[in-house]
Amino acid sequence: MAIPMLDVKKMQEPIKEELSQTVQNVLDSGYFINGPFVEAFENELADYLGVEDAIGVTSGSDALIVALMAFGIGPGDEVITTPFTFFATVGAIARVGATPVFVDICPDSFQIDHEQIESKITSRTKCILPVSLFGQTADMDPIIEIGKKHGLRVLEDAAQSIGAKYKDRFSGSMGDAGTLSFFPAKNLGCLGDGGAVLTQNKELGQQIRKLRNHGGFSLYHYEEIGGNFRLDALQAAVLSTKLPYLKEWEATRRKHAGYYDSRFASVDGLTPPVAMPFAYHVYNQYVLRVNATGRPALQEQLKEKGIASAIYYPLCLHQQTCFEYLGYKKGDFPEAEKAADEVLAIPLLTDQYEQVADAVVEAMS
Ligand SMILES: *Cc1c(COP(=O)(O)O)cnc(C)c1O
Repeated sequence: MAIPMLDVKKMQEPIKEELSQTVQNVLDSGYFINGPFVEAFENELADYLGVEDAIGVTSGSDALIVALMAFGIGPGDEVITTPFTFFATVGAIARVGATPVFVDICPDSFQIDHEQIESKITSRTKCILPVSLFGQTADMDPIIEIGKKHGLRVLEDAAQSIGAKYKDRFSGSMGDAGTLSFFPAKNLGCLGDGGAVLTQNKELGQQIRKLRNHGGFSLYHYEEIGGNFRLDALQAAVLSTKLPYLKEWEATRRKHAGYYDSRFASVDGLTPPVAMPFAYHVYNQYVLRVNATGRPALQEQLKEKGIASAIYYPLCLHQQTCFEYLGYKKGDFPEAEKAADEVLAIPLLTDQYEQVADAVVEAMS
């Protein structure tokens, strides 16, 4: 039987009845935009993650855009981030008219190398945007320290890391704001698109609420130019139903990751992912390093057994056609480029994880 990267239909099976009831409740209530389902979910999410405010928005991509807008970041401003992330992180910076400035990653964690951030700060820098990639955060304390020292905003892209912790703090709860995605393949997924902005700053939260509603709180009166960045009530209700199960799904991810770690620790040519000492890792993806020449063969052999694998991400952001205007070239960020050549994610949330491990070990021997 084939093993996909993630079976999003099967994931909902155990709570299908509950989800059907939720959909029915929303249908019967007539609350489709804003209203009690959105408010309830926002409160539950804020409580869960220990933040002052959680604002539901249309997607993880829009969460980044609306947070940058709330910071007042636009043309002429620079935002420091990593070239090894999903497109949306960097797309959001460009979309508000600002300039992405890249910093290379740490080879162990795949996260932005905080030691290289200060050298990229100029008089135009306004924000540092670390991404908590694959399910653990960057080393946040020094990043927040650099932000304070230089008067910069810190925005954490926590799309892949809901539930992860840095020391004793939840991913997304640090810095000025954090963003989440509820895309179905994230650790907490809805039945479509959704996202949230998290902040400890109530005033900033209010500003984001205003911007997600076109830029005004009272109907047909606008103080600013925002947009329609609202989370659907239907998705909010689905997320309220699923949030109580997050811990359980997270435990399964961690159990399977631990099993993989033990199976792969001494396999030649494979490097299992490293959970940093400060991290509680929630493994949105289980990402191995395979030497660049071995990767295509491993992928091929898994494929022959019906086992999916995926490369997150095959081309760094500074090498994308759409960002040519930034003037970067191959070789500018050697660790990020090496990671792009070597990473391979394998299915994690599957009952057949032992079979996946067997196939990987066999292919490498
Ligand atoms: C998924 C993801 C996003 C975008 O979220 P969407 O909800 O799909 O818009 C942004 N950043 C990272 C790192 C992501 O993984």
